[in-house]
Amino acid sequence: MNEQAQFDCIIVGGGLAGSLLFFALKSQKPESKVLLIERDTLIGGNHTWCFHESDISCSQYHWIRKLISKSWSGYDVYFPNLDRSIDSPYHAIKSSDLHNKLTQHYADDILLDMEVVTFDKGSVTLRNGHCLKAACVVDARGWPQVKSPLGYQKFVGLDLKLKKNHDLQRVLLKDARVKQIDGYRFIYILPWANNELLIEDTYYSNSPILDMEEIKARILAYAQNMGLEVQDILRVESGCLPLVDSFSPSSDDHLRLGASSLEYQPVTGYSFPQTFKRVQALVELNHFNYEDWKQALMESAQKDRGQRMYFHLLNRMLFLAADPKNRYRVLERFYKLPLPLIERFYSGKLRGSDQLRILIGRPPVSVLRAIKSLFGR
Ligand SMILES: Cc1cc2nc3c(=O)[nH]c(=O)nc-3n(C[C@H](O)[C@H](O)[C@H](O)COP(=O)(O)OP(=O)(O)OC[C@H]3O[C@@H](n4cnc5c(N)ncnc54)[C@H](O)[C@@H]3O)c2cc1C
Repeated sequence: MNEQAQFDCIIVGGGLAGSLLFFALKSQKPESKVLLIERDTLIGGNHTWCFHESDISCSQYHWIRKLISKSWSGYDVYFPNLDRSIDSPYHAIKSSDLHNKLTQHYADDILLDMEVVTFDKGSVTLRNGHCLKAACVVDARGWPQVKSPLGYQKFVGLDLKLKKNHDLQRVLLKDARVKQIDGYRFIYILPWANNELLIEDTYYSNSPILDMEEIKARILAYAQNMGLEVQDILRVESGCLPLVDSFSPSSDDHLRLGASSLEYQPVTGYSFPQTFKRVQALVELNHFNYEDWKQALMESAQKDRGQRMYFHLLNRMLFLAADPKNRYRVLERFYKLPLPLIERFYSGKLRGSDQLRILIGRPPVSVLRAIKSLFGR
C-alpha cells in the first residue's frame, strides 16, 4: 500500500463500528479508496456481537449477512414467573470470523498493529510518523471514559467445548432463575455447535468490579447443573458497559461512529442498531465530503434523541427505583409484553404507545421511588 496516497475515507479503529463502515463501503462502493487502521494485531478484538434481525432493515441485513457467524430462529427467556419462547431471528458475529473475512478480501486496505497517534478531520498521523490524508476521517476508537454512569451491564462469557452433545437448538437469551447476586443477574447461552456453547453470566450492577475467577466458577457450576460435561474452555470474553441517564455529545469536529459517539442503546449498552443506522446514512451519500458526513451523522443521531431520553428514564427506574435484588422483576414484566414491542425496544424504535405500555400498570418496584426516579438522581 502506498502510504502517501490520498484516501476517500480513513477509519481509525477496527472494532465493530469501524469494520461495519469499512465493509459497507468496500462492498457497496468498491471503487472508493478506504483505509481501516487498527492498533491491535486483530480486527475486532475478542468479542461476540449479537443482534436481533428486527434491529435492522432488509437492505442492511442484505449486506451484513456475509459477516454473520451463526443465526438462530428464535430465543427463550426464563424468569422466576415466566417461561417464554420467542420466534424472532437472532444473529451473532464472532470477532475472529470478522477478522478472517475482512483480511482475506481486503488485506491491502487494512493497516493492523498500527496506532493512530493524532488525527483531525482530514489527516491522521501514525505511530511510525507517517501522515495520511483523506476527505473523511472517522473516529471509531471505541468507548471513551463515561462520566458517572448510573450502573453497569457487566459480564463474563466462556466458549465451552463439551464432552457430549447438548440438545439446545435456540438461544437462551436470559435465564434469570439463577441466584440474584450483585443486581439483576442472568445467564445467556449461544449454542455454536452440537458440542460447543458460549455461556455468559451477566449482571446489571451498581459497581464496575468483575471478579473473573468467581464468575467463571459460577458459569461452570451452571453448566454442571444443566448436566453439561465441560471438556475445555476455548475462549474467555468479558465486558463492562456503562449504563447512563444522560447524554452529552462531544463538541469536537470528529466524525464519531460506534461507542466513540456514545450513541448506544442506554438500557442494553449495545451499539449495534445505532451503528448500523449511522453506517447506512453514510453509505447512502454519494460522495466523500466531511461537512456532508458530519451532517448525515447528526441527522441520524437527532432521530434517536427522543428514544434515548426515554431509555434514560427506564434506566433511572431500573437503578434508582428497584432494589438490586428485585431488579429482575422490571425485566420479567417487560418480557411479558407483545413481541413487536420487545423488538422495537431493542432496535430503539419504540412508538409513543409502546412507551406508555411499558410504564402503565402497577410497577414491580416501590411506587414512591419510581416517581422520584423520574426526576433524576
Ligand atoms: C465483550 C463485549 C461484547 C459485546 N456484545 C455486544 C453485542 O452482542 N451486541 C451489541 O450491540 N453490543 C455489544 N457490546 C457493546 C458494543 O457494541 C461493543 O463494545 C462494540 O465493540 C463497540 O464497537 P466500537 O467499534 O465502537 O468499539 P470497539 O469494538 O471497542 O473498537 C474500537 C477499536 O479501535 C481501536 N483503537 C482505539 N484507539 C486506536 C488508535 N489510536 N489507533 C488505532 N486503533 C485504535 C481499538 O483497538 C479497537 O479495536 C459488547 C461489548 C463487549 C465489551
